[in-house]
Amino acid sequence: MSIPAIDTRPDSELLTHKMSNHFPHLVTNSNNSQQITRRQLIENSLTQFGTIAVAGSIAQWSPATEAFGGTNPSKGYVDAHVHVWTPDTTAYPLAPGNTIGDMKPASFTPEQLFSHCRPCGVDRIVLIQMSFYGFDNTYMLDTIRQFPGVFVGVAVIDDEAEQPESEMRRLKSLGVKGFRLMTHDRDADKWLASDGIQRMWKCGGEENLAMCMLSNADVIPSIDRMCQEFPDTPVVVDHMARIGVDGQVRDSDVDILCRLARHPQSHVKISAFYALGKKSSPYDDLAPMIRRLYEAYGPQRLMWASDCPFQVDPGHNYKDSVNLVSERLDFLSDEDREWLLRRTAENFYFS
Ligand SMILES: [Zn+2]
Repeated sequence: MSIPAIDTRPDSELLTHKMSNHFPHLVTNSNNSQQITRRQLIENSLTQFGTIAVAGSIAQWSPATEAFGGTNPSKGYVDAHVHVWTPDTTAYPLAPGNTIGDMKPASFTPEQLFSHCRPCGVDRIVLIQMSFYGFDNTYMLDTIRQFPGVFVGVAVIDDEAEQPESEMRRLKSLGVKGFRLMTHDRDADKWLASDGIQRMWKCGGEENLAMCMLSNADVIPSIDRMCQEFPDTPVVVDHMARIGVDGQVRDSDVDILCRLARHPQSHVKISAFYALGKKSSPYDDLAPMIRRLYEAYGPQRLMWASDCPFQVDPGHNYKDSVNLVSERLDFLSDEDREWLLRRTAENFYFS
């Protein structure tokens, strides 16, 4: 079987340098037998791990959010990273420099996503702003509004704007929980020291909005310094820092990512299996790396994600991504699997 070299496609975010310069681009009060309340769960989590990000969630807890959980007593999994887009480029224009030909697949709407994720028990999704739309988060925001309780978003804004925190607060009111940051081919330290990025990290700490980092392992030491400077700002590292994107899962890279775990606000997405290591289902070759991350971060700071639609490209499918965590990683307990597949992202994004 031939596996397409997805990570080399121009539209794949797993590609390090292709992005063009213009793209600056609850448990619920459950009906289960244990009668665990969401508040108890969070308190247990705090007792065990004391994570600042979870503490941020507690600060935001209210009867209203509890009621939200009550009206949405979902036990389904949460996919922490999906992109959606529409072929309707009239209603939702592409950002300059992007073409319809860049959209592969040509369409990946919420309904198309549901056909993959719902049969696998996934019913809530964290949307990640797609690069085609640049800083215009409208399609993502409209999708969040169209499916209440199903989606939240991670937006992309102009970090060179004068006061990016204004846009961060506006987007927060519309269902955005974090902001995507990419180093591209910039000097990471210089970029992270810029006024706009510094303002974004400060606002992230004040508003419990995550800085979602798409970067390789070599940038993690720079992110580490930011975690030290902004200890209240939640941080989520995408796709295990893309370790293994070149086919090689290097222990030295995993070491770097594991060191970041000493910052309680740091989280890692266990995701994009289609593009890492052997890039071949059932993705068992990624198990040693995921085990080390599990030992460093604990299950409460790891969240599974598919990175659709790329996970459902030919040669791969949605179920195989879920199954690696739900059935295969033998070092995980049943409770651990629940954290990776649901609770971590639920507490972080849906509470
Ligand atoms: Zn992605």
